[in-house]
Amino acid sequence: MTIKLRPEALEDLVARVLAANGMSPGNARIVAAVVAAAERDGARSHGLFRIPGYIGTLRSGWVNGHSVPKVEDAAAGVVATDADNGYSQIALAASRPLLLEKAKRNGIALLAMRNSHHFAALWPDVEPFAEAGLLALSFVNTRSRVAPWGATKRLLGTNPMAFACPRSSGPPMVWDQASSVTAMGEVMLAAQEGHAVAGNVGIDAEGRATTDPKAIMAGGALLPFGGHKGSAIAAMVEILAAALTGGRFAFEDRSAEYPGAESSNAGQSIVLVDPAVTAGAEFGARVEELFARLAAAGVSRLPADRRYAARSRAEKDGIAIEQKTYDDLRSLLPRDDPERRGVQAARR
Ligand code: NDP
Repeated sequence: MTIKLRPEALEDLVARVLAANGMSPGNARIVAAVVAAAERDGARSHGLFRIPGYIGTLRSGWVNGHSVPKVEDAAAGVVATDADNGYSQIALAASRPLLLEKAKRNGIALLAMRNSHHFAALWPDVEPFAEAGLLALSFVNTRSRVAPWGATKRLLGTNPMAFACPRSSGPPMVWDQASSVTAMGEVMLAAQEGHAVAGNVGIDAEGRATTDPKAIMAGGALLPFGGHKGSAIAAMVEILAAALTGGRFAFEDRSAEYPGAESSNAGQSIVLVDPAVTAGAEFGARVEELFARLAAAGVSRLPADRRYAARSRAEKDGIAIEQKTYDDLRSLLPRDDPERRGVQAARR
């Protein structure tokens, strides 16, 4: 059975759940917005599915739920932020005003974030910058999950990257992808739902190709997308997200010392470019010309179109959530919360 929730009601519920489980209320609001947005946009592997991981990591002491990021004006075009061992989105929110000001003033700006945990999709980080008229690129490294090309053991992170481009005719074009064939979240979902993954996704602990998600998770590894090319991109992301920012490399992860911890203490970089400075008013029309040519060549959808369609449906009809997922979520509220008492009564 499923129920329907308004996006803002889901965001509010998730914020209360996170605040009841180790996050300061302000930080909980920022992370809840990202979780609810993923659920709204049909990006399930980074929606409610992640709540046990957020809470397990908070309870383990590996992440700081009360983080207070330190934002440094490092150079004319550079913001350097220490995320205080908290979730990246909180550090991004704190850095955003200065970063935007620098991008507008200089035409380009870099955010170098360290000591941060990214446990979400990247598109919520870059899409708002493109809505403000800027090109945005982001790189995040994670703990070791991927066997580099030619190796049989984990070394690199799944190292996602995202790109957002403003459009004159509608919402930004945004792509957001892991540098592994799929994100580990997709493999975890397959394990939970009891189905196999494609044959090119990962290897088992002996380095043999496998379609068993559990074998990939238990000592195996994901593979980089595009063979040696994706492997080089994953290494580039380690450099841009960790070496450039002062963050930890994938192989420096210490989360195993904190049972229950699921996120990575690593780094993130974001580059903003103002196309009005380099291409002037023509930029919008040039981009539309490219997309028109792609459509004429047979491209039926651009990256993010699927999410935007899911978003429109959710904003009109609400977000469909399994009753069990909803009840599990409510059972994480404080004991005296009326919504939690409701689920206890229903389960008796
Ligand atoms: P996918 O392969 O599902 O999608 C990658 C991109 O391709 C998306 O922008 C998607 O757009 C687009 N796309 C997919 N199919 C098509 C198509 N047929 N035509 C045009 N565009 C298409 O992503 P991944 O599995 O690589 O990653 C999933 C998520 O996991 C990402 O959001 C990523 O940020 C996140 N992640 C987070 C990590 C972390 O540590 N925080 C680590 C690794 C990954 P659309 O969205 O519209 O489907």
